[in-house]
Amino acid sequence: MGGFFGVAAKTDCVSDLFYGIDYHSHLGTKRGGMAVTSPEGKIIRSIHDITNAQFRSKFDDDLDEFIGSTGIGVISDYEDQPLIIGSRLGTYAIVTVGKINNLKELVHEAFTSGCTNTHFSEMSDGELNPTELVSTLINQKDNIPAGIQHAQQKIDGSCSLLLLLGNTIYAARDRFGRTPVIIGEKEGAFAVTMETTAFPNLDYQLKYELGPGEIVQITADQIVQKKAPGDTMQICAFLWVYYGYPSSSYEGVNTETVRYTNGKIMADDDDLEFDAVCGIPDSGIAHAIGYSTASGKPYQRAFVKYTPTWPRSFMPQNQQVRSLVAKMKLIPVPGLIENKRLLFCDDSIVRGTQLKDTVTRLYEYGVKEVHMRSASPPLVFGCKFLNFSRSRSELDLAARRAIERLENGKCDDATIAKYLEYGSPEYESMVEEVRKELNLNSLKYQKLEKLLGAIGLPREQVCTYCWDGWEPEAAKR
Ligand code: SF4
Repeated sequence: MGGFFGVAAKTDCVSDLFYGIDYHSHLGTKRGGMAVTSPEGKIIRSIHDITNAQFRSKFDDDLDEFIGSTGIGVISDYEDQPLIIGSRLGTYAIVTVGKINNLKELVHEAFTSGCTNTHFSEMSDGELNPTELVSTLINQKDNIPAGIQHAQQKIDGSCSLLLLLGNTIYAARDRFGRTPVIIGEKEGAFAVTMETTAFPNLDYQLKYELGPGEIVQITADQIVQKKAPGDTMQICAFLWVYYGYPSSSYEGVNTETVRYTNGKIMADDDDLEFDAVCGIPDSGIAHAIGYSTASGKPYQRAFVKYTPTWPRSFMPQNQQVRSLVAKMKLIPVPGLIENKRLLFCDDSIVRGTQLKDTVTRLYEYGVKEVHMRSASPPLVFGCKFLNFSRSRSELDLAARRAIERLENGKCDDATIAKYLEYGSPEYESMVEEVRKELNLNSLKYQKLEKLLGAIGLPREQVCTYCWDGWEPEAAKR
């Protein structure tokens, strides 16, 4: 997915910037980057491969080279960032988070627009760098806010960004607010973040949350609105379910609290006999603690995550390596498994591959029963709006594959629609099909309305597309 952080301060910003970016490490696995405007007005930048290493260890040696009061940085799941762009609007650094579905069309449009010196550099895999395309769109207008607004209107998908020009940061939240962009303040400095987790230990107080499509200009002295927010918000519900950090809040709603409440709601709706509740680390844990509290059954760790060397959600593309990494991270505790009836909570069931391996291991260790509770509904649609390193190709989704089997290979929208209604015969047959595939004693998914109740925001403001395929008319292209 990726995440960014920026600081505009009256004194040196490098330490805050370094730790603030680091607090976004759970959001991306490929590249880390930071850029600072030096006292001479030059942009100093560094980008490192963080595929199998921590951001801090990679950037520690660079810090002496960075001096300046204003900077931005990123944890990127895909492309090299920040890019430094020399343009008629000035030389700036830019970081983006989002997904551009119409990248090829926009590149073609740029080449055929009549501007003869348009060019794009290729990344090592032959793909074009989406952040470079965003900068090209920005440069088509006469000033930066107008350029950002232009880019956001052209992009099918989403794009939140930070742009560093001199000692000014332009911050923009994507058009429908799928990702959060939040400003913090302390004496002599403003910070802008995707995760409020970055604020407390750096002494920032939450100041302002950008609305959908809003653009602001941040200096050490002030925040100036450059474009007012739009009316339609579709913040990603998955932030609270899975990828947001537990201590973060978005739209004033804390992630850990939502997971805990959601777990309690799941338990209230259940009447199962079992011995203990376990969470699949990490994001299943708070749901499981909530479930345990409401059910009165103990919370236990049947698997313990080996955190000293597996602190990040590193997800290699190769399935075999991914399964090996997943196995190495989780260590079973035999005494808590043998002859026990265990209920596991997880944030969601994506492909089910790792869950199936986990269940197999539980049986190897003598578990009596394995029950699974997914904290979110069956995932049926791939995400069109954000990039995830965790594979979420539509065709791989466990629920979608179950529908395909039940429908003898047919899986069009009309066919799927029958399976979306919670509690319908088709829904129940889909859940049963996944249960059998994963070799579980029982399986339940959280109802969408109940998950939304745990989040507590108005339904029409929250994106739930990957579960129900719903989009408000105003957000359709
Ligand atoms: S489709 Fe799902 S993952 Fe994507 S933005 Fe919407 S809720 Fe989030």
